[in-house]
Amino acid sequence: MRPLGLLGGTFDPIHYGHLRLAEEAREALDLAEVRWIPAGQPPHRLVPRVDAAHRLAMVRQAVAGNPAFAVDDAETLSTAPSYTVTTLERLRAAAGDRPLVLLMGADAFLGLAAWHRWRDLFALAHLGVASRPGFALSSDELPAELADVCADRLGRNPDALRAAPAGRVVEFDMTPLAISASLLRARLATGQSVRYLLPDPVREYIDQHHLY
Ligand code: ATP
Repeated sequence: MRPLGLLGGTFDPIHYGHLRLAEEAREALDLAEVRWIPAGQPPHRLVPRVDAAHRLAMVRQAVAGNPAFAVDDAETLSTAPSYTVTTLERLRAAAGDRPLVLLMGADAFLGLAAWHRWRDLFALAHLGVASRPGFALSSDELPAELADVCADRLGRNPDALRAAPAGRVVEFDMTPLAISASLLRARLATGQSVRYLLPDPVREYIDQHHLY
């Protein structure tokens, strides 16, 4: 069975960095599908600028038309804090033995040891880690406890993802795009253009609803 990719994030707002991450992961890791999981109340970072319903709507607009992309709205519909481990437990129960690959950029991976029950993630899914400008993934850059847990899991061979339902960490290179949601929020706040940094329907949605 081809693995199912999972991409969580605040998507505040969604941008082409996220979309290329999902698309390039799908190709590089031979994923059957990428499921987008916008966070409701992320506990591990600042409260999003825009509420969950708007962030979900923007994700839906951005991924519409790609048959390999689907949206999981469970976190945005829940009032409980969004923990990736809880979401993975739910998805694992539905997936049986199918490989699941939790996708993330290098910055998110470097901060993994701060996530709720992070050591449990490896029993539930693989990790697919994309390069991101400004974040080095070499093993001497990894926080010590993360390096320890990942020592026997890290690699670059996507075939490893099919050999088991969970437990590997596969790095892949994506087109470097130094786009971030923070950069977009800063530009929007000062009236600068964000055109060509995110999809047009998302830009129109932001204008229409006077977000940011
Ligand atoms: P912010 O600037 O608000 O921190 P962000 O742009 O990093 O936001 P998130 O919603 O926090 O967006 O990110 C969701 C996931 O997408 C994370 O795993 C992050 O590493 C990854 N990601 C976001 N932008 C890029 C990018 N330009 N290149 C690679 N990965 C990215």
